[in-house]
Parts: sequence; C-alpha cells; structure tokens
Amino acid sequence: MAHQLQAWNLIPKEDEYLCPNCGFDLKLNNASDRPDGLRWNCQHKIQKYHHKEESCNTHVEFRYGTWFADAKLDIFQTPGFVNLWVENAPICLISHQLDISLHTCCNWSSFCREVVQYTMPTFNEKLGGENIIVEIDESNYHTFADPHWRCGYTTTNIEEWIHPGSIVMSDFWSAYNTLNRHGYQHLRVKHRLQFKDHETGACTNHIEAHWRASKAIITSGGRRKSQIAGHLAKYLFLYRCEALKLNRTIEFYRLAGQLYDPTKPTQLNLRVGPTEEERNEMMLE
Ligand SMILES: [Zn+2]
Repeated sequence: MAHQLQAWNLIPKEDEYLCPNCGFDLKLNNASDRPDGLRWNCQHKIQKYHHKEESCNTHVEFRYGTWFADAKLDIFQTPGFVNLWVENAPICLISHQLDISLHTCCNWSSFCREVVQYTMPTFNEKLGGENIIVEIDESNYHTFADPHWRCGYTTTNIEEWIHPGSIVMSDFWSAYNTLNRHGYQHLRVKHRLQFKDHETGACTNHIEAHWRASKAIITSGGRRKSQIAGHLAKYLFLYRCEALKLNRTIEFYRLAGQLYDPTKPTQLNLRVGPTEEERNEMMLE
C-alpha cells in the first residue's frame, strides 16, 4: 500500500525525500508505536562534537506534509473513503460502511472536492477556439441555502473563459446581447418557441442537460454557494472519467498527488474543510 501511495505521489519516494537536518536521504521504516506503523528516519553518520561520528537520528512523521497530514482517518482507511466518494455514495452510507463518524466524513468529502476543484483541467482552461461551438447558459440555484444565486456569465467573464473566434450558442438572455462585438460568432435560440433553431442549428440542450445532472448529484446537505464550485468540479470529474473511460479512483489519486506534492509541504494550505454550520447541514443528508 505504501508503495502504491508513493506511485501516486501521495507520500514521498525514498530517493526524493531529504532529511531536514543533514540533507541526506530519509528511509521509511517500520515503527510500531506510530499511528500508521511507519516513520521516516535518517541514519546518516554526521560528525558531532569533538569529531565524534554519530547517527543523525532525525525522524519525520509518515504523514507530515502529505494530503493525509490532518486526517482523522487511518491512512489506509482513506482508499475506502475515496472509493465510495467517487461512486457518489451518500455521506451517511460511507459513515456506516466504514464505521467513521459523520463529522469526519463531512470533512473528507470537502477535502476530496478540493482535490477535483483545484486540479480539473476543464476548470482551469479556456474553452473553444476558431469555429468551435461553445454552448453557454445560466442556471438558477434557487433551492440553495443562499437563495437565488445565479450561476452564469457576463460578457467580461465570457472573454476570460472562451477563446475569440468560437461559435457561442446561447438563449436570448439580455446579458448576452453584445457578444457579437467581442469576436464571437453568436447564435441564439428562443426557448419559448423551440429547443433548436432550425435555421442556424443553435441550441443549448447539452449545457442544460449538464446543469440538471450536476444539480442531481448534490445531496440536500451540500447546498451552499461556497460549495457550488466544489460540487460542479466533482460532477465534471465524474463526467470526464466516464467520457475518457478512466478509472475514477486511480484518476482521483493522480489528481491528489498532483495537488499535494509531499516533498513541498508548505506550498499549499487548502484544507480548510467545511464550517461548523455547513457540516451540520451535510450531516442531515
Ligand atoms: Zn539526517
């Protein structure tokens, strides 16, 4: 298991992890008194006082600086959690199956969403290009705890996210009125009359189907504005795995290893977890 976690870049590899004291390689050793049964040790000989050679004898905790650093789970319990999370299992089911408290499950759910939110390529790259169709649409999250938050576009962020030259298809929402002036070929469909404009071929059926499906995977406890990006990222992650026929679990670990480089522990401090209020709501699922 430790080797598999190393292969996914979730824990450091032996020849890449250096002793903070002397700078030589740390070795992973069994340590029965530690929670995971493992610990990093440095046995490199260094000269101490009066030219006497002694072992460096520096220890680093197995989880230090890794994705698992503050985890309340056994490090070898997390694969079970991730397996169920990528299958979109409800929190209460995960809690029951793995015998983990709801509180811990809520935190882990949030950590997993962070991984996909910060690593999904579709979340960080501009869409479209010359003559490529991009459907845009707005969606009202009226059932969320922060009411009437509208997830959509303005001309400014359309320019930020869609390459000029793209064929942009939308409905007749007035915010899209000036798109033609911003370097896009803009086609529109009047939903009151038809789902697809028979003359131009414009439709927004695909993006609307994605909105519906992405809302369907959100359980009743996760409906807060602050969590929408994470839920959308999870939906895109699952959709992408399906489309590219990727193993969800392996792909998830690959992304987690990309985000948390265990040899550079101070770079990231994303794991804030849900607030007390959000956690209480999630537990109601
Ligand atoms: Zn050392």
